[in-house]
Amino acid sequence: MRILSGLQPSGRLHIGNYFGMMEAALKLQHEGDAYYFIADYHSLNTVQDGKLLRDHVRNLAIDFLACGLDPAKSVFFRQSDLPEHAELSWILSTVTPMGLLERCHSYKDKVAHGIKPSHGLFAYPVLMAADILIYDSDVVPVGRDQKQHVEVTRDIAIKMNETFGEGLFKLPMPRINEQTAVVPGLDGQKMSKSYDNTIQLFEELPALKKKIMGIKTDSTPVESPKSIEGSSILALYKLVASQADYDTMVADHEKGGVGYGDFKKRLLQAMTEHFAPFRERRAEIIADPKYVDRVLAEGAEKARAVARKTLARVRDAVGLG
Ligand code: ATP
Ligand code: MG
Repeated sequence: MRILSGLQPSGRLHIGNYFGMMEAALKLQHEGDAYYFIADYHSLNTVQDGKLLRDHVRNLAIDFLACGLDPAKSVFFRQSDLPEHAELSWILSTVTPMGLLERCHSYKDKVAHGIKPSHGLFAYPVLMAADILIYDSDVVPVGRDQKQHVEVTRDIAIKMNETFGEGLFKLPMPRINEQTAVVPGLDGQKMSKSYDNTIQLFEELPALKKKIMGIKTDSTPVESPKSIEGSSILALYKLVASQADYDTMVADHEKGGVGYGDFKKRLLQAMTEHFAPFRERRAEIIADPKYVDRVLAEGAEKARAVARKTLARVRDAVGLG
């Protein structure tokens, strides 16, 4: 089984990324042949500052390794080290109907949030299809927001197979953990790097405290029962607390007598404890500045061997070169 997934270096890693995609991806690295990458071509749509993009790439690499990515088990690389992705994207785009892309929610959501509607943003699903298909991937662990893009990938692969020969591409499947498919942000919308509503995984403690204590709540008095539906505090607590602690918090909502400030403090503590081991590992990784470069260079080399083979097969099938 070949597994593939990517993360954009469009900002710092957040707990939506972790629970939506990384947790599953980290487990899968022990079950198959995993390819994980930092999607820097994609991030050019939202980060248009060379130094900042490089910083984000480096931090994301460190953070992913700190979370448990094992370079001995997974091929870990930076997308732009493989221009083969961009070439395949072009080839795929020539069979991709405009209507297929026009239906994509992610593009519309981003534009609605003020991101400028560039061709790159519109064509994002085609590059993502190339990312997936170039490794003959079977399984793509993603959050719910990316499900449609994996379906678009399948549609493009089917179209390529119909046009240039059955068996040219495998059809990948999305893998979504329904429990954590959409992690809410501080404002209750989907947590997203580009929506400025994230809790970063490696947030400094004072900033983390400020964010959690600042979560907007309704004006229910301390003594009254509080609504469970739609509570970001509870939704986030469920991710990081034990089942028993979560049940207690639910009961305290239903009973009344406990204020939101108390719930927020419990959330802060559970969040800090949950990620403490990751912080330790992160400090070790940072202590060896060459380590990350070495991992990404080795990853790129392994990825290149596969990507070049697929691209040669495709160029041959379509009549290029
Ligand atoms: P951007 O705002 O730049 O799109 P992002 O925060 O959405 O960034 P991505 O790098 O696009 O993060 O997504 C990486 C992975 O994390 C994808 O598989 C995506 O589905 C998943 N993911 C992102 N946000 C969430 C979320 N709030 N809940 C669950 N999964 C998420
Ligand atoms: Mg995204």
